[in-house]
Amino acid sequence: MVAPRLGSSPRSPSRSAKQALINFDLKPEELEAYLDEYVVGQQEAKAVLATKMCTHFHRVRYMLERGGRFQDTGFVKNNIIMLGPTGVGKTYLVKLVANRLGVPFVKGDATKFSETGYVGGDVEDLIRDLVHEADGDIERARFGIVYLDEIDKIASSQNFIGPDVSRTGVQRALLKPLEETEVDLKVPHDPVSQLEAIEYYRRTGQRKRQTINTRYILFVVSGAFNGLEEIVKKRLHKQGLGFIAEVESKKEMQVNYLRFVRAEDLIAYGFESEFVGRLPVITVLDPLTIEELYLILCNPNSTVIINKKRDFKAYGIDLVFENEALHLIAERAEKERTGARALTRVLERALIPFEKRLPSLNASFLVVTKDLVEDPQGVLATIETNPGSPELLARYKKAVEEEQERIRQFILGREKIFSRAYSLKLTPSRVDIAIQIHRREDLDLHQAVEELSLLLRQVKNYERSFERRTGFKITFSEEAVDKILQHILQIEQGVYAYCERILNLLEYGLRLLHERTGQSRFMIPPEAIDSPEVYLNRLVRRTYTSN
Ligand code: ADP
Repeated sequence: MVAPRLGSSPRSPSRSAKQALINFDLKPEELEAYLDEYVVGQQEAKAVLATKMCTHFHRVRYMLERGGRFQDTGFVKNNIIMLGPTGVGKTYLVKLVANRLGVPFVKGDATKFSETGYVGGDVEDLIRDLVHEADGDIERARFGIVYLDEIDKIASSQNFIGPDVSRTGVQRALLKPLEETEVDLKVPHDPVSQLEAIEYYRRTGQRKRQTINTRYILFVVSGAFNGLEEIVKKRLHKQGLGFIAEVESKKEMQVNYLRFVRAEDLIAYGFESEFVGRLPVITVLDPLTIEELYLILCNPNSTVIINKKRDFKAYGIDLVFENEALHLIAERAEKERTGARALTRVLERALIPFEKRLPSLNASFLVVTKDLVEDPQGVLATIETNPGSPELLARYKKAVEEEQERIRQFILGREKIFSRAYSLKLTPSRVDIAIQIHRREDLDLHQAVEELSLLLRQVKNYERSFERRTGFKITFSEEAVDKILQHILQIEQGVYAYCERILNLLEYGLRLLHERTGQSRFMIPPEAIDSPEVYLNRLVRRTYTSN
C-alpha cells in the first residue's frame, strides 16, 4: 500500500514527524474516504477513527506550533477502545490510518501482560518497538500509534469473589503510559544499547536522548468482549427504554447491543473506572455479512486477493476469479465465524493443490470457478488432462473481462476521490489504463492511479523539455497521451525515451512547417503516436500545399 506521509507532501521519508506535523492538513473526511477504499462495511468505526485520529494529530500540531506559549496541561488524549469480533478489520483500520499518516505503528497483546505480570516492562518494550519502527527516530516515535489487542482479557473476572488483583493491577500499570510517562530507551544491562550510546557519544560528543515521552502517543485498544453484550442488554432493559422493545420486536432485525455500550458497562465488565477514563472514545465493529465478505473479495485493494494472486504470479501464473466463485468463497467463510480471516483459509484450502501442481505443468493462468472451490481435486484432474484446451483459454479470457469490469465499477464508484487525490480527470480510457497498471504491476488501485498520474506528469514534463530544446511548444492531445501510455505499458519503455523516439521522427516536419509558415505551437494528435511516419508525411505535404 502506498503510504503518503503526514501532511500535504506525500513522500518525504527523512523529515521528522514534528516538522511534518506542522504541515499536517489531512481532514477527517479525507481520511475516512481513504479508509473506504480498503475497508468494507464498518461505517461507524471508519467515521469515528478517522475523526478522532485526525483530531488527535491536529491538536498535537496546534500545541507544537504554539510551543512554550501554550499551556497544554489539560491535554486529554483521544485514546480509543474498539469492540468487535475477530477478523472484522480492527487492526487493519488502525494500520491503514498509521500508514496514511506516516506515523509508526506497533501492535501488542494484553494477554501477555496478565500472564507475565510484568506490565510496565512490556508496555515499555512496545514503546521501544515504536522507536525501532520509526528507524530509531525518537521524534517520529513520539507521535506513533500503539495498538493493544485482547484488552478484554485484563478485565477482572466477574466470577471472582473480591477484587481480581492481578488483572486490576495490570490495568493500573497501564494508566500512566496511556496518559503520559517517560520511557527509558536504554534497556538496562542490554549490551547493545550500551555500546550504541558509547558510539554515539564518541561521534557527537553529546549524550544521546535516552527517554521518550508517551504524551503524544495514541493508544488504541481492542477486544471481542464476549459477555459484554449481555451486560448492555440487561442495563437497557432495566432502563426500560421504549426503542429497545420496538427494535427487538422486529424479528428480522438482529440487534447488536454493543452499539449501545457505555463506560458504565465496561466498568461492570471488569474495568476500573480510571482505566475506562483513559479511553474516552468507544467504537464498535460488526460481524461481517456474506455480502460484505464478497465485497472484500471484489475489492481490488484487498490484500486477501492480492496476496493470493502474488503467490501464483511468482510462478508466472495469472490467477483470476469468476464472480460465482467469489460468492461461494464468501458463503463458506461466513460459516467459520472468523470474519475475513476465514476468506484466506477457504481460498488456501481450494488453491493449495493448484499451487503445488501448476508450476510443474508450466501453466500461465488459472481461473477460479465455483466448481474449483467445490471440488479442487476434480478440477485439477481435468486441467492436467488437457492444460491448453481452447475451452479453458476462452473461460480465462471471459474471467479476465469479468474481473476488469469489477475493478472498473469500483473505480467509477470512487471517481471523485481518485480525481481529487491525484488531480486528474479519470476518462474511461484512463480508467482502463489504471486497470492495466493495477493488473500488470501488482499494485493496489491507489498505487495504480498514483502511477498513472506520475506517467501523465512525465508526459507534461517531456512537452516542456522539448520546448526548451527546440523552441517549439508541443501539446499532446488527450487521446495522444492515452496512446502514449498504452504503448509504453505494452513495450515497457519509459515515457521520456518513448516520446523522444516519436518526436525525433516528427521534429523534421515541425521545423519545415515552422520555416514555411512561422508556426511554433503544435497539437500532436493520436495518429502521430500510432504511425509517426504517416503523420510526418502528411505534415510535410501540408507544408508544401500551404504555400
Ligand atoms: P481484527 O479485527 O481481528 O483485528 P484484522 O483487521 O487483522 O482483524 O483483519 C484480518 C484481515 O482481514 C485484514 O488484514 C484484511 O485483509 C481483512 N479484513 C478484515 N476486515 C475487513 C474489512 N472490513 N474490509 C476489508 N478487509 C478486511
